[in-house]
Amino acid sequence: MKGYFGLYGGQFVAETLIPALDELEEAFNSFKKNKEAKEELNRYLKDYAGRSTPLYFAKNLTNQLGVRVYLKREDLLHSGAHKINNTLGQIMLAKFMGKRRIIAETGAGQHGVATATAAAILGMECVVYMGEKDAQRQRPNLLRMKLLGAEVRIVKKGSRTLKSAINEALKDWVRNIKTTHYLIGSVVGPHPFPKIVAYFQSIIGKEARRQILLKQKSLPDAVLACVGGGSNAIGIFKGFLKDKGVELYGIEAGGEGLELGKHSAALTAGRPGIMHGALSYLLQNEDGQVAEVHSISAGLDYPGVGPEHSFLKDSGRVRYGVCFDNEALEAFNMLSRLEGIIPALESSHALGYLIKNRESFVNKTVIVNLSGRGDKDLPILEGIYV
Ligand SMILES: *Cc1c(COP(=O)(O)O)cnc(C)c1O
Repeated sequence: MKGYFGLYGGQFVAETLIPALDELEEAFNSFKKNKEAKEELNRYLKDYAGRSTPLYFAKNLTNQLGVRVYLKREDLLHSGAHKINNTLGQIMLAKFMGKRRIIAETGAGQHGVATATAAAILGMECVVYMGEKDAQRQRPNLLRMKLLGAEVRIVKKGSRTLKSAINEALKDWVRNIKTTHYLIGSVVGPHPFPKIVAYFQSIIGKEARRQILLKQKSLPDAVLACVGGGSNAIGIFKGFLKDKGVELYGIEAGGEGLELGKHSAALTAGRPGIMHGALSYLLQNEDGQVAEVHSISAGLDYPGVGPEHSFLKDSGRVRYGVCFDNEALEAFNMLSRLEGIIPALESSHALGYLIKNRESFVNKTVIVNLSGRGDKDLPILEGIYV
């Protein structure tokens, strides 16, 4: 069925949004075939964002673990994470469609910042919705967005977190469909968003596959990535899905433990449900209400997951595991000390899983997607080191 990955995905939205989703899908299909548009995007990815990113052989970590570890360095991109691949791509697509206004919603603020960045360079009007609670918790990102020229609308209704921000963004989209593109930040939301975001992030896997073949003349045994909504993971997995010998691991945030409310591991501990316009694994209570979630890393703190991951879980092609807060912190430490690279706490979950399961990876070659850098996470360490 169109817009589904097996049982998952779909378009669970108000009737009034269906024409906008149809228009978006059609434009996306022509964009993909348009050589000029793609060349322009590639120029921005290269000269502005800093692609291609290195595939770095982590020698010290390799010696420590007895596992050959390569890191895909998305942390080196402009604005510090893989999110810019998607925001540059979707804003180019919006321009291609003749839109002049971008809206987005943001929880921790990282997607809001990546959106405001791409909107600034590409000359688009930008409005970001952010829950009041999140805005209080994430002041530096609020300031960044404003500095970059975005209008931040603080949402004071409902939960005053991501959920209310999503509702307000959707309402805005319905009112301003002609001029406005709604820029979704991960492989989530109604069809065609999961496809579009996967397409713009698939450059990670394309590069990584080429790079590992150049460096060691063979494919890796395994590829690991953290999963919040799932965009950096889908991005790198796309390069290896057809290589049956390459094991793929998606690592969710186990938080403080797998009791409801203490983690954000939707694939590990959730069940199928509808949120954000799509059917996918979802953390919910007995009544089907979306559950409170927790993770030490703001970027993994999302109760759902992209529908393609739900499909890849059921099909068995990708294995999903969890890394707990303390294990992610340990990995964060280890990489900083051994390699001089401070990883994002999100990415530290993929590393943490590798470290705790090192015995099953001994003498193997693995690629870990280092989705972002950790400077933004330093406030969390307050009290741990100083
Ligand atoms: C936002 C973010 C994530 C989580 O998003 P995905 O869509 O799951 O990739 C992971 N890592 C970093 C560094 C992020 O900023």
